[in-house]
Amino acid sequence: MTKDIATPMRTKEILDKFGFSFKKSLGQNFLIDTNILHKIVEAAQLTPDSGAVEVGPGIGALTEQLAKRAKKVVSFEIDQRLLPVLEETLSPYDNVTIVHSDVLKADLQATLTTELADVSDVMVVANLPYYVTTPILMKLLEEKLPIRGIVVMIQAEVADRIAAAPGSKDYGALSIAAQYYAVAEKVMTVPATVFVPQPRVDSAVLRLTLRDKPAVQVEDEAYFFRVFHASFANRRKTILNNLIHNHSTKEQKPAVLAALEEAGIDPQRRGETLSLEEFARLSDSLYKRLP
Ligand code: SAM
Repeated sequence: MTKDIATPMRTKEILDKFGFSFKKSLGQNFLIDTNILHKIVEAAQLTPDSGAVEVGPGIGALTEQLAKRAKKVVSFEIDQRLLPVLEETLSPYDNVTIVHSDVLKADLQATLTTELADVSDVMVVANLPYYVTTPILMKLLEEKLPIRGIVVMIQAEVADRIAAAPGSKDYGALSIAAQYYAVAEKVMTVPATVFVPQPRVDSAVLRLTLRDKPAVQVEDEAYFFRVFHASFANRRKTILNNLIHNHSTKEQKPAVLAALEEAGIDPQRRGETLSLEEFARLSDSLYKRLP
């Protein structure tokens, strides 16, 4: 029986054999700690009937653990140099499909339909490339894919922002965007020593459990997203000033004030104090006046 890929020794052997050099620009920090991998996979609560979607298999450290627990794994890798490596390291597993593609350009809906048609549920599980954490998470959430949830290793600071509650310093547009679609939990923080090479930032495992329907009902979803993004454009400004400068014009101030009043929100408050429900009310009352 060969050793797990994610041990320091086996990883080094694989990297040496293929003469692999890390590309910082692709966020290549590989996991070399099987305990952490087990915790990530546990957090995903997979069953033998589950499907798993991975972003960035690297040399297959996490892919291997997913292949052992799930019925089927589909993994997107952008770096062509890793394809022959994965071909070899994952050869003991017949339930893994590697897709050579930038996940941001991939048609995930189509891949799920063709590759994961016969699974009970789908989880996205990944040690994400940190340079594209937010675009990847937003794509996964916004495309309304038939997935149960997402468990990802990301920068600790981003995990804190996503899981933040109103009123905290980390709460902002990203918290609202993610929490609109999912329940967010920080599962654990992870030291840099479990990666090779070690990233400069702290890491954390985040779990997003998708909601059956969004956390709040709004008249127009795209408008709601524009309203809360505008509300956080300048964190030191009041909600009124942010809206006047980033959502409407100065001339429309009376309409903005009326919308705030109707939504029961003091114009002097800051965006970071508003709950999702308050943003939803505000969005609907602004939409009536300034569609
Ligand atoms: N899963 C491996 C592990 O845990 O050791 C590697 C994780 S490493 C942090 C991120 C991986 O994502 C790398 O293999 C990198 O080449 C790949 N990657 C970077 N950008 C990508 C993109 N846009 N689409 C798909 N894969 C990408």
